[in-house]
Amino acid sequence: MEHLDPAARLAHWSSRGPRYTSYPSANEFGPIAGDRVRREVGALGADREPVSLYVHVPFCRSLCAYCGCNVIPTRDASRGVGYVDDLATEMALLSGLVATAPITEIALGGGSPNFLAPPAMRTLVGAIERYFRVAPGARRSIELDPRQTTSAQIEALADLRFTAVSLGVQDFAESVQDAIRRHQSAEQTRWLVERSRAAGFDDVNVDIVYGLPRQTEASFAETLDQVIELQPDRVALFGYAHLPSKLPHQLLVERAGRILDNYERASLLLLAIARFAEAGYLHLGLDHFARPGSRLARAAAEQRMVRSFQGYTEHRADAILGLGVSAISSTQRMHWQHHTELADWRAALAAGRLPVERGFVLDEDDRARAALIGRLMCDGTVDLGRIGRECGLDPEVYFARELAALAELGELAAYDRGARAIRTTELGRLLVRNVCMVFDRYHAQRASALHSSTI
Ligand code: SF4
Repeated sequence: MEHLDPAARLAHWSSRGPRYTSYPSANEFGPIAGDRVRREVGALGADREPVSLYVHVPFCRSLCAYCGCNVIPTRDASRGVGYVDDLATEMALLSGLVATAPITEIALGGGSPNFLAPPAMRTLVGAIERYFRVAPGARRSIELDPRQTTSAQIEALADLRFTAVSLGVQDFAESVQDAIRRHQSAEQTRWLVERSRAAGFDDVNVDIVYGLPRQTEASFAETLDQVIELQPDRVALFGYAHLPSKLPHQLLVERAGRILDNYERASLLLLAIARFAEAGYLHLGLDHFARPGSRLARAAAEQRMVRSFQGYTEHRADAILGLGVSAISSTQRMHWQHHTELADWRAALAAGRLPVERGFVLDEDDRARAALIGRLMCDGTVDLGRIGRECGLDPEVYFARELAALAELGELAAYDRGARAIRTTELGRLLVRNVCMVFDRYHAQRASALHSSTI
């Protein structure tokens, strides 16, 4: 392989696999008893464990053709008001169980949380503060769509003590925007970044995507330069996940242009890494970039960065409690997801039931593998001695088969027996999902078509 250029080597090793925003991945979730979830939430309250609250707002004014989120496209703004009422019902249901646990983070995601007008935003945050014990200094973050955000919303959010914002950009090239049916100018984006900073937001993230049809190295380089000019604190660079069998609207993307092959995807990824490095950004985890000194950069340096359903974040709590349709919750013992259909979610709430559709209870083996995969995804290396101490096992014996299998990924990772550490190589860091797959007890049994390309 050494004779190949880096993009060709990445393309060679690329396969399909989970993104490891959880272990096991959400594809493994299955039926779970509501009572079991109720006990788990109750345990968070009884132990007064810090909790990170995630609120999913599913509405968007139109559906972007590449979208992989759980979205309800609608232009009826009144749906947001009714949804906030339902969220308050859900909070009332949970608060008896978990009201004593300190909430150390409130994250609003979607969809587009800014589908909510300022009064609905105030009602939502007011309900959170009424039903839960929000810790002083809890981080408050929100995803915003620059095409729809108003000054009044930014003012309301600043007033509600939000300080972190994540903006979707994806790509600034017009032809790419045509292909993905999302039109957003650099001026709109710049306005929102400047407006947010002026309102006191000190943590600005920008999402961009590589691997979209019609992207070329030249066009993507321009997008990267425009993003760098915005001086975000962090950038999340995602590989486009083309899964039309799961997401039929993505057929529109396919019709608009050829889906890039793995070599082209790898070339764009390497281009982005080089551009962000030149601009002084630190490359964190698999696909995030942060300004030195930013919160995420500090968390990474202190090994406090974690991988969750929200991507890479600073560790604030071991438990994430999801609210809203399709929201995923996670503790060290369980994952569970709410109904993905709005009507089912609502019906469960109306009946006074937790609106849980599926989930997964982790056994000891899952917990050991989750710890190992989590560190690999965040740090690109894992101290097996520490995993052994934390999980009460002899790692060289317990993972003997996996460590032997690592040898077949020689170009991506190696086990240092003396240091008892698995370390990814420079190339393997970009294909860390492949390395994690070696330790994934479930992946081998699954159809790979369920997963996106690992490059
Ligand atoms: S704005 Fe985001 S969540 Fe909404 S449809 Fe577009 S990509 Fe999906």
